[in-house]
Amino acid sequence: MTQSVRVRAPGKVNLYLAVGAREPDGYHPLATVFQAVDVYEDVTATRSDRLELVLTGRGSDLPVDDTNLAIRAARLLAAHAGVEPRAHLAIHKRVPVAGGMAGGSADAAGTLVALDRLWGLRLPPVTLRQLAAQLGADVPFCLMGGTAMGTSRGDVLTPVLARGHYTWLVITQRSGLSTPRVFRAFDDAATRRHVPPPAVDARFLRALAEGDTMFVGMNARNDLAAPALSLHSGAQQVAEACAHLALPTIVSGSGPTIMVLCESDEAAHSLGAYICEHTGAEDAFVAHGPVPGAHVVDET
Ligand code: ATP
Repeated sequence: MTQSVRVRAPGKVNLYLAVGAREPDGYHPLATVFQAVDVYEDVTATRSDRLELVLTGRGSDLPVDDTNLAIRAARLLAAHAGVEPRAHLAIHKRVPVAGGMAGGSADAAGTLVALDRLWGLRLPPVTLRQLAAQLGADVPFCLMGGTAMGTSRGDVLTPVLARGHYTWLVITQRSGLSTPRVFRAFDDAATRRHVPPPAVDARFLRALAEGDTMFVGMNARNDLAAPALSLHSGAQQVAEACAHLALPTIVSGSGPTIMVLCESDEAAHSLGAYICEHTGAEDAFVAHGPVPGAHVVDET
């Protein structure tokens, strides 16, 4: 019988994020291209007589009660499978909290994969995907990984052909941004203009398929960037510094994390040192994509 399972679940960046007008149910239709990056949440699930969660790394002060997405994932899986939700979950977090890189969603995806194995359920991937979608719009992508287009609320996924490897400088901030707050700022600005239905530009998809990483970086789009930067002066400062250097820069999801596409790890490291010295950024580190979705790395 399996005693312990360790899963790696990636964070993400949105290479493209087109946002439509708010619908009556409060949600916004999205057309997005996700890329999974090698900033991993390590989820270790071990047999226990009750459900408990311990967090280390970034966000170790987050609540570990029923509001935590990992606990919600465990309870949802147990209810679906008709088993008792018993496991000790230890998550080492590396994805910045409330940073627009889907750390909580990665924890939920990692927990689904780990407990499916620990409890011997072996659910079909389609079932795990359905459970993931109930937990949050980004959770199905954290399961899938790679590069994918997300439509509807971002949770209806289609893998896209993407050649090439991307080296990112990830620049984090001391304080996060609430995703609903960023959408509200988007809505406020949207009342002053027409918002077309969201779609991913065909030239962008072609550049992804051809591995034209520079075109992708220079034509990345994020409709949440302006509202996110308007709410976060630290991220705004970093964005301005990168604009001066004419580098392909993306606000990650709903921010405030900023990603800069770099030519090499060396170039990224020296840019990171410069940015940390000249702005109030918390940290800057190198990440690569695309990488696979949540997967088991160790089992005893
Ligand atoms: P989004 O997927 O909306 O872009 P994000 O990447 O900006 O989210 P997360 O780190 O996923 O941000 O967390 C957003 C909020 O979710 C946190 O502020 C926290 O209150 C809550 N949360 C619940 N569970 C977790 C978890 N396991 N890790 C991080 N945050 C969690």
